[in-house]
Amino acid sequence: MLVSNILFIVAGLLLGLAFQGGWHLFLIPVAGVAAALGYMNLPRVPGGKTASIPVITKAMRATGISPAVAPDLRNGIKPEPTEYNEPSSALRVNQVWARANADVNKALGDYLQGLKRIIPNANTLIVFSPLRNYKEWGIRAYASDPNAQVATDVRITENSGLVSQLLRPEVNRLLEGDLMGGKTLLYYIDNPMIKSLVAVPLLDRDKNRIGALVVDSMFPNAFSQTTAQALTFIASGMYTLCYKSFASAQNYIAQQQFSVLYNYQHKFFQTMTVKDIYRQIFEYVKANIPFDRMMLLALDKQDDLNLHKEREGSVVCCDGVDSEQFANKRFTLSDKGLAIMALFHNRPVERVFSSNVSQYIPRIGGQEKRNMDVRQLFVMPISTDSKAEQAELAICLESFQSGRYMEHEMELLKAFASVAGFAYARAIQFEKGKDLATRDGLTGLINHRTLHENLRTEKIRADRQGYNIGVLMMDIDHFKNVNDTYGHPIGDVVIKGIAGAISGEIRKEIDVVARYGGEEFVVGLIDTTPEGMIETAERIRKAVGKLVFDVHQTDPLRVTVSIGAYLVKPGTLDMKKAVNNADQALYKAKEGGRNQVIQYTEIPAEIPEPEK
Ligand code: GH3
Ligand code: MG
Ligand code: MG
Repeated sequence: MLVSNILFIVAGLLLGLAFQGGWHLFLIPVAGVAAALGYMNLPRVPGGKTASIPVITKAMRATGISPAVAPDLRNGIKPEPTEYNEPSSALRVNQVWARANADVNKALGDYLQGLKRIIPNANTLIVFSPLRNYKEWGIRAYASDPNAQVATDVRITENSGLVSQLLRPEVNRLLEGDLMGGKTLLYYIDNPMIKSLVAVPLLDRDKNRIGALVVDSMFPNAFSQTTAQALTFIASGMYTLCYKSFASAQNYIAQQQFSVLYNYQHKFFQTMTVKDIYRQIFEYVKANIPFDRMMLLALDKQDDLNLHKEREGSVVCCDGVDSEQFANKRFTLSDKGLAIMALFHNRPVERVFSSNVSQYIPRIGGQEKRNMDVRQLFVMPISTDSKAEQAELAICLESFQSGRYMEHEMELLKAFASVAGFAYARAIQFEKGKDLATRDGLTGLINHRTLHENLRTEKIRADRQGYNIGVLMMDIDHFKNVNDTYGHPIGDVVIKGIAGAISGEIRKEIDVVARYGGEEFVVGLIDTTPEGMIETAERIRKAVGKLVFDVHQTDPLRVTVSIGAYLVKPGTLDMKKAVNNADQALYKAKEGGRNQVIQYTEIPAEIPEPEK
């Protein structure tokens, strides 16, 4: 019964007495005071048709994701063991949820404290909210007498005591006035003599049950229908409060996601090469997603030569616990592993593990070290075309904590993957276009034009830093014979083989090698000595001489090259002239009998001075 009701009754009794006349007349002002107090104690809830409980329509929702009003969404924010990678932005997401939860808890607690003061004889007031799912409720907030022992870890499931009746959609309120005790109220540790109970469900805007508001009393028939009605309104207000609080948290997170994605989109647009894309993906994961181990898997580039072969790939970067074993590890799409599965099906893969050894499934396959501490794995594929059967890249995340990758991380990673896939497609196109313009299709070496560009830049650096550049010009000996005897296609195989042999004898990433013409190659040896240049030239000549081409005839095919060499000292000549000089030396090598290295001499004795 409400305080106001009692005061009204008191006022009525006093008035009744006053009407008996005599000295009772002085009770009239006292009755007036009681009536006024009663009026002031009337609960201020909107009633009847004029109710104005805010209704949140779908159109008003700020994000596409339905705000989780289940207040326990991120309840498990305990101090967590330090992880290998604890990113700053994910931490902030946790903090946002923690703050929203704390705000909601505080407000619900205040509501209950207030109600306890208003509702006469109320013993304990509780708000239940869902735990893991909507079929299981736990205590979210409560207000009780100090001597009441509330079991805070109680779980309300189907048929578990009186309150569980509210889980049923047909039950709209509970109003009990002569309970036999607290036995059917599982939320007490002891069994106080609870006689009355009033409870209403907490409903979301779609009328789903997301919990309950419960008030009990030691007094029989302590509550009326009016109390139940009032509680229904209050429950609705509580829902709005939760909704607003979590929606604003969710908005904040969505904003943050957006700004992070926007930043990376921006970075991706400034990124041209596939290698840089790998680096940016890695950076993003490190900054935004927690993990104990991460890997980025990438399929090899698909070109005309491996079009029909099974696709292979490698781990292009990895980080975290025991990750070294995966560095640069090669795999094929038919290997059995959880990380490869995501690539193979172009679908995210999520797994939760117990410590059961027999359940271990490899990540990349083969002989990898088993990490039995890993509790959750999440692999997000990245593809240039989201509808493609297979993906080109995959981010594999592993954590020693269970429940580490929740909806939030997964959604975030999904959004990122689509941005990354787009950037990756663009980088591949860019590299293809660049290769077409700068590289020779048969050997993969740079072409004539690119060689001169590269040599020009190298020369500027060499002049500044004061070192030599050695130029080798080489030409296959009697190559016409090869074409004539074995055919043009075999000739091409020979050219490719020689390109490989040359590349094998020079320093990768430092020296330059180009296919200069049909069967001519130029090598630029950066920072070399006269002896070093000749040594390298001889090594190349010998390496070519050792090549054996199987042409399905009795004698295998062997070829030789002639090489002309010229050393450019800092501050002298331009590179075009240098290449010309090497060419002149090559001419001498051919003249001298082929399969040899000749160095250009400034005034070659063999060439007679032109007559004046
Ligand atoms: P030498 O020892 O004087 O160099 O004799 P050679 O027969 O090699 O003469 P030259 O260097 O002038 O030969 C060029 C020949 O190389 C002509 C051409 O048929 C062949 N050739 C040029 N480009 C290609 C190519 O891309 N594929 C093939 N199969 N042959 C090529
Ligand atoms: Mg030639
Ligand atoms: Mg030749």
